[in-house]
Order: sequence, then structure tokens, then C-alpha cells
Amino acid sequence: MLTGCSKSDDVLVVGTNASFPPFEYVGGVSGDEIKGFDIDLARQIAKDAGKTLKVENMKFDSLIVALKAGKIDMVASGMTITPERLASVNFSEPYYEATQVVLVNKDNDSIKSIDDLHGKHIAVQLGATGDIMAKNYSQKVTAFNTGFEAVMELKNTKVDLVLFDSEPAASFLNMNPELKIIELDFEPEFYGFAVTKDKTELLNSINTTLNAMKTNGEFNALINKYMK
Ligand code: GLN
Repeated sequence: MLTGCSKSDDVLVVGTNASFPPFEYVGGVSGDEIKGFDIDLARQIAKDAGKTLKVENMKFDSLIVALKAGKIDMVASGMTITPERLASVNFSEPYYEATQVVLVNKDNDSIKSIDDLHGKHIAVQLGATGDIMAKNYSQKVTAFNTGFEAVMELKNTKVDLVLFDSEPAASFLNMNPELKIIELDFEPEFYGFAVTKDKTELLNSINTTLNAMKTNGEFNALINKYMK
């Protein structure tokens, strides 16, 4: 899905996986525009740094690889700050708190606690925190390149549940009223924008923009625009 890379000093190339609504998704009149909460934040980050934004849509699992290979300057993809990822890249200050939730078909009443996940067939998005966590509970975990595909598998009753981040799960529920969300006792996760370890100037500029947007109300305006 990587559609070539034009790297120049006046362009901020941002990598994302646009199947994570409302943070990033494909839509708009043309049907191929990448939009969302992260994209609006990235646009302001680029603007403040005096650059134009270029968004590259790729598999979630490829984002850190592309970052480290210099193909993109920043990851904006609802990416959770984890110790494992921090060992190889830097993250901005956290900008959103989320958690994992369970999506099931409405008639499924078999999951009341995290313990009930044991032995269930779980669909996840490849390389996501849900993917890593699911393996703690079950040996039957199938990973898909997008959350959309994981949800399709659930609708086709090929799996028992999808373990996914709370906001995109709510978006998928909107589009699929035959599903329901079960909230269990999962730890909070915090999203950050990722850059390579050597990009301290860019990291400072990302944090400056985030702080400015929190102070001037633009951050909250985006929360109201995208989070229902
Ligand atoms: N927050 C999750 C993670 O970082 C999922 C992100 C995503 O699928 N875009 O792994």
C-alpha cells in the first residue's frame, strides 16, 4: 500500500494505517481521502513545522519498520506507547487514553470477565496491542491486516470475538448494529506519535503543537468532532 516516498525538507511524511476510525480512515467525496483525528493533528504539526503533510497508508505492522528505514518521518496511527516500542523509537507525549474492549455478536453472553477469554477464538489486528494481549488468554488467535477484516470474520461467526481498541470498536459498532461491545478490566493505553530516536527536533515540535492545541481549545474541538 506504500505509494512511493517523496522525501524533501518541506514535506512531513506521516505513516498511518487508515482502518482505525475515528483516528484514521478512508473517506471523503472522492472515497480515497485519508481523514481522521490523527490526520488533523498531523496536519497542524506539519503546518507549525513549516511543512506540507503527506500521508502514506500502510499496514499497521509495517509502520515502525518504515519509520526506521527513513521512508516516513512520523507514525500517526493510534499507536499505543509500549515499553517494547520505546526500545526502538521515541514517542510524543501521550495524546489519547484508550483501552482494549471485546466485540461480539449480540447473542453472545458467554463473556463477563477477562477469564472468560480463555480458549475463545479471538480475531485481532496484526501487530496491535490487542494481538499481543490476546495471546495471553488464548491459543486460538487469528491476526488480520485491518480491524475491518477482523470484524468481518466475527460477523461471519468464524471467530468468537474481536479484541480491539475502544474508539474504533465503537465506530465498527455504529456500522454493525448486530454486534455489541463488552468492557472488561483492561489496563489503560496511551497513544503517541512515533519518530526515530535521532529526530529530537521533530519530537519537540510535535509536543509543542500538541500543547498549543490543548491550550487554545483546538484539541478539544477535534475530540468533539471525532469522538461520539
Ligand atoms: N493502539 C493499538 C496499538 O498500538 C492499535 C493501533 C491500530 O490498530 N492502529 O497497537
